[in-house]
Amino acid sequence: MRKEDLFSTLGLSEVESGAFCGEWLDCSDKELSSINPANEEILGKVRLARSKELEIVTSKAVEAFKKWRSVPAPRRGEVVRLFAEKLRKKKDYLGRLVSLEVGKILSEGLGEVQEMIDIADFAVGLSRQLYGLTIASERPRHRMFEQWIPLGPVGIITAFNFPAAVWSWNSMIAAVCGDPVVWKPSPLAPLTAIAITKIAEEVQKETSSPPIFNLIIGTVEEVGEPMVKDRRYPLISATGSVAMGRRVGTLVAQRLGRSLLELGGNNASIVTENADLDLALRAILFAAVGTSGQRCTTTRRLFLHKSIKDQFVDRLVKAYSSITIGDPLEEGVLMGPLITSDAVDKMAKALEIAEQQGGKIIYGGKTYIRPKGFFVEPTLVEAHNDMPITCEETFAPILYIFEYNNLEEAIRMHNSVPQGLSSAIFTLNIREAELFLSPEGSDCGIANVNTSTSGAEIGGAFGGEKDTGGGREAGSDAWKNYMRRQTCTINWADELPLAQGVKFDV
Ligand code: NAD
Repeated sequence: MRKEDLFSTLGLSEVESGAFCGEWLDCSDKELSSINPANEEILGKVRLARSKELEIVTSKAVEAFKKWRSVPAPRRGEVVRLFAEKLRKKKDYLGRLVSLEVGKILSEGLGEVQEMIDIADFAVGLSRQLYGLTIASERPRHRMFEQWIPLGPVGIITAFNFPAAVWSWNSMIAAVCGDPVVWKPSPLAPLTAIAITKIAEEVQKETSSPPIFNLIIGTVEEVGEPMVKDRRYPLISATGSVAMGRRVGTLVAQRLGRSLLELGGNNASIVTENADLDLALRAILFAAVGTSGQRCTTTRRLFLHKSIKDQFVDRLVKAYSSITIGDPLEEGVLMGPLITSDAVDKMAKALEIAEQQGGKIIYGGKTYIRPKGFFVEPTLVEAHNDMPITCEETFAPILYIFEYNNLEEAIRMHNSVPQGLSSAIFTLNIREAELFLSPEGSDCGIANVNTSTSGAEIGGAFGGEKDTGGGREAGSDAWKNYMRRQTCTINWADELPLAQGVKFDV
């Protein structure tokens, strides 16, 4: 498909505005270029929003909230349903744009749009299920219950690596909960954000909805931090690095707002002597190499029981050597580029440090392997316990391999890093699996048995512990983050009994 056709179907032009609040605003002359990481060509440009546009967008979102909160939730769900229908029609185009802009292979680009559709469908059902509890009152003729009320405009900050899905996880749920959103996407994927907002614009116009899906693309200084500090956003949902989350979390806490943080991971898999090694190999290959190691859930550390280590490493090396690296839109390619030259440099630096700390590269290790584009080799490093670099998240396809003697030791090593997002054990032994899932086991927000650390479904609550930030998004009861809980008591007696038997008669 030609770029021109793709752009015209998605309504994109060569230069786009970086601010939308029901209408596209005139932004500054300062332009941001979106670069295709596979060939370093400019895909398009965006005029950056400044504080002036942020103010307009925020005020519009506040106004939109006043209307949207009173629309019955199932009617809000109907708007989300129409959005999902439009996504279905444009899936192929949007998926390609994701691949072009961030370099993931087409099937993953399409998968990302499918994830948007899935969460939208989930949100539609949820719009009729925003249940509160009824609680037995200790006072006669009193009724006590909890109800969930829309919260207000939600500021959404997203990372480059899921430029479409993460926004949907937040926005589809926020929308049915009665909250407009203002999206600050990654500067590395602005076109995907604009294309999605154009689809949302169509839905807003067709349904005469207030501007609930708003966009602001600008620098961290002019737009990012001012949004985070603004009390008109009762909730800031931020996805990205631990460093970003530490800063954003602190700024929101200073104004006693709510933050939902989805930060970096340093995910591990344990393969025991009782594993189905064929299955483990396939799962680990996908989790370590998929998306060029640029998923928050990428497997970065591998713990192998000493009895299977050598044979498993041999098989891994063979599998790694069969990975086709190249243009992510080409059929058969399994690994595209990293996002920027900076990401490539960080990978090279991490490997240098790993070697200085006693690690041994047993496969890969080369960077800039093509004349154009940010391509690297997926890399296996034999590691040992005393390598501080393995406690860091390097956003690249590096897999550190450790040997262990018994499962308790492996779990200890597994839990010894600051991050706590995703984890997996490969075993056919029920005791090993249950230990991993017990309070003595994995300390992560996600713990899997015989499937990879990557590739979560939207139905579950997604997120991690420790430095990963503690947030939960997507399915299950994550919607409660986007509403405020109100506990209500109705006295329908003609007396005023007080709780705990307190007397206060005059
Ligand atoms: P990043 O932290 O560099 O940027 C993420 C977003 O935060 C961008 O939009 C950026 O502009 C914004 N930002 C940065 N500092 C800010 C500030 N002070 N105020 C407001 N906004 C600010 O991350 P990235 O390189 O785009 O993405 C990769 C990281 O994201 C990895 O660490 C990865 O693990 C993490 N991630 C986590 C999840 C998750 O769900 N846990 C999902 C995807 C990515």
